[in-house]
Amino acid sequence: MQTETIFPIRTPLGTPIQITRQSFTGRRGNPRVSFLAGLHGDELEGVYLCHRLIQYLRGLQAREPEALRGTVHIYPAVNPQALGAATRLSPFFASDMNRQLGDKNGHSLPAQACQKLLDSLRNSSDCVVDLHASNLHLRELAQIRIIEEFDRKLIPLALRTNADLIWVHPASGVFESTFGYNLNRAKIPTLVVEAGICLRIDDALCDQVLNGMIHLLHHLGVLATSEGAPEVKEPMLVHPSEVHQVQAEHAGLFVARARLGQMLEAGDILGEVVDPLRGEVVEEAVAPEAGLLFTLREHPVTYQGAALARIAQPSRGRP
Ligand SMILES: [Zn+2]
Repeated sequence: MQTETIFPIRTPLGTPIQITRQSFTGRRGNPRVSFLAGLHGDELEGVYLCHRLIQYLRGLQAREPEALRGTVHIYPAVNPQALGAATRLSPFFASDMNRQLGDKNGHSLPAQACQKLLDSLRNSSDCVVDLHASNLHLRELAQIRIIEEFDRKLIPLALRTNADLIWVHPASGVFESTFGYNLNRAKIPTLVVEAGICLRIDDALCDQVLNGMIHLLHHLGVLATSEGAPEVKEPMLVHPSEVHQVQAEHAGLFVARARLGQMLEAGDILGEVVDPLRGEVVEEAVAPEAGLLFTLREHPVTYQGAALARIAQPSRGRP
């Protein structure tokens, strides 16, 4: 394993901020895959996944070094200040590290760090995986989110990741400054993973995604282990018209009754919104359609319009 610092900079009090990359190098000319985590400093599932992946590759290098055919680069914590503060945005600048790319974003410190990171990824990767978790409110099944214009290249890769769901959605201006969009535009296939919830680590979820990433590395010709690639599940493939969002109609506390990952029938109970001041159940949220419950509200406090759940119901069948 080689350790490299790609963006060292000194802070006013002297402590350096650095973005560190760990590399496991195979034969030159073979495929190179990069993993990126912690763009949002409160999303810890991906950071933990990088730990698990580094641990796995170190073990593999010790017991079966010839299994590493290609190269794996891992950037486990690309926004170290935000990670230290456990906040989504970079402290001091209040900047979103995944919204800094492109001409309109100036030369602030986070924008410079993002440009350096993008250059590093572009120069050293044939494929990138960008790991994210959800916000404070919603817990997500493991899913790959794909912008429509890149779907032909990315769906065959996403099918190898052991995700529960692949969600193909239209492009929108907000994505143009992201790493996923810019790398895909630069013809480096980049999968954006969304899994779990921020500020938490779910070991079982990490096992699932880790197996998917090891499978993907076999599929891309980076790994060829004697035990072979782990089995992966077949994800559900959905487009926006096949995703049903359920929103709260009342303010109150949401108490979930359904389980994330459950296959629901139309009319099944998702949970209750209660009014704790009056001791009343003010709303019973139900599934509008049958399908896979892939997003469920974790933060109990709701207001009218707050997202409670998302259900995937593919009309075109599985890929
Ligand atoms: Zn994120």
